Amino acid sequence: MLVEGSGCALCGASWGNVWRDVEGTRLFFCCEVCAVGFTNFVERAKRDAGWSKVDRVRIVGDFRGRKGSVESGGERRVYFFTLNSDGSLRTFLRTE
Ligand SMILES: [Zn+2]
Repeated sequence: MLVEGSGCALCGASWGNVWRDVEGTRLFFCCEVCAVGFTNFVERAKRDAGWSKVDRVRIVGDFRGRKGSVESGGERRVYFFTLNSDGSLRTFLRTE
């Protein structure tokens, strides 16, 4: 799985030292909450789309709301999501 952007896979921060395997890819996160939030978003998107895997992820935005673009096998979906302070999904809406 390819994650676009640099730094923390969820928020882009360059500090921190949390590494987590997501979809078979070792990803960098600034903190546990970002790792949990990112994993929850990818899992929820996969379930929503009925995909077994995700090839590419791009997340933009901040704590007020993020736009998450996911691709699998040439298909693409875009979601708007927000996270609770524990990394669980508060909002999850398909926008494209
Ligand atoms: Zn982060």
